[in-house]
Amino acid sequence: MTNLIVNTLYTEHKTHLFNTQQTQKTMTVLAADSSNVLSFSQSESHVMIEQMVREFAQKRILPHVMEWDESQHFPRELFTEMGELGLLGVLVPEKYEGAGLGYFEYVSVISEISQVCGSIGLSVAAHNSLCTNHILMFGSEEQKQKYLPKLATGKHIGAWALTEPTTGSDAMRMRTTAKLEGDEWVLNGTKCWITHGISSDTLVIMARTGELLDSHGMSAFVVERGTPGLKAGKKENKLGMRASETAEVILEDCRIPKENILGKEGEGFIQAMKILDGGRISIASLGLGIAKGAYNASVKYAKEREQFGKPIARFQGVSFKIADMATKIQAGELLTMKAADMKNRGENVTKVSAMAKYYTSEVAVEVSTDAVQIFGGYGYTKDFPVEKFYRDSKLCTIGEGTSEIQKIVIAREALK
Ligand SMILES: Cc1cc2nc3c(=O)[nH]c(=O)nc-3n(C[C@H](O)[C@H](O)[C@H](O)COP(=O)(O)OP(=O)(O)OC[C@H]3O[C@@H](n4cnc5c(N)ncnc54)[C@H](O)[C@@H]3O)c2cc1C
Repeated sequence: MTNLIVNTLYTEHKTHLFNTQQTQKTMTVLAADSSNVLSFSQSESHVMIEQMVREFAQKRILPHVMEWDESQHFPRELFTEMGELGLLGVLVPEKYEGAGLGYFEYVSVISEISQVCGSIGLSVAAHNSLCTNHILMFGSEEQKQKYLPKLATGKHIGAWALTEPTTGSDAMRMRTTAKLEGDEWVLNGTKCWITHGISSDTLVIMARTGELLDSHGMSAFVVERGTPGLKAGKKENKLGMRASETAEVILEDCRIPKENILGKEGEGFIQAMKILDGGRISIASLGLGIAKGAYNASVKYAKEREQFGKPIARFQGVSFKIADMATKIQAGELLTMKAADMKNRGENVTKVSAMAKYYTSEVAVEVSTDAVQIFGGYGYTKDFPVEKFYRDSKLCTIGEGTSEIQKIVIAREALK
């Protein structure tokens, strides 16, 4: 029945699924009971959203996965379609034309897409929780009205630029500057590894407005494509996540109106750290999706592939791998949902989102490595999906703060 509703909504009317009244009313998915033990009861609308995204990924992404991967094609046209379905403004309130959902649904959206293609999962995550969420959390009402509807509906693609060639983990030493000249900020510098560095229409860019190493010496700005002095640089040729565009963003005397600052001058670094707290839940979901995709393919293959006269799943050496994979995925999912639950409640998620990101990223790498092993020689070819999960998974331990940086964050919070 539910499937029928989703099929009807999606295939016949192409309705913005998330905007149904029913969806808004039944969004309780997971809650801590009085004993503070997490209990699960997925609402009907959450199940519908999951099924809709799963079906969309199967129909519109799966047939093109390897073609986009091989050619490093960023499918801009797919983003227009995802925007129409509400997948590019999952956390954006309806008044700004978003889906108005919470982090439980967001985790499902990213992990369902990533089970099919990590690249699209990464791009949807960067668009939603970095660029769009930064404007949502720290923009003025005028900025929200100006930018959020276009981002939430996929008319604009978003990018978020913190990293620079000489400053990745150590973002406080960023060299890009923003100087106020009359009624304009003048930006100069180079950002690198920027998701949608070429195709983005709206960019949130962090730049230095004060002293080096001063956590209040950086500010965040919205920059629109087409602004003189804003250029795209080199596109990276990557190991994995190849359909997610990654490129340099170059700023040469790029002049933007004074009012394009997000929040107050000097708040940019603190804002960025808060954005990453939420962003790490999306990378955890990305890792979860990749791990689930690799696991599902492995279970199917292990039951089908025969050696020594029986399915390889009947060898303990293989079945124990499956057991480890399943257990790690379950643990990663619990941690990710815990972070999502706390984020929904407005609690501080610095420690738990770093834990979820760190753990599920490592799980994604471990599970996809085991998956290639289960597939044997076939796993080493592009004819089977696990080779791509294996390549894509590694990004999870690097992007939005490496695993080492997550451990620093967790330890700092734990030792407070
Ligand atoms: C595909 C992709 C997409 C990305 N998208 C974006 C984006 O949209 N926007 C954006 O701003 N950035 C983006 N990034 C950049 C990403 O966030 C950085 O790559 C990441 O933060 C690590 O920085 P780095 O690459 O400079 O590594 P470095 O900081 O140079 O680190 C190198 C190694 O040293 C380790 N290390 C560094 N400092 C410490 C320490 N104190 N203790 C222990 N170990 C340490 C690291 O863990 C790592 O293993 C993207 C990166 C990739 C690969």
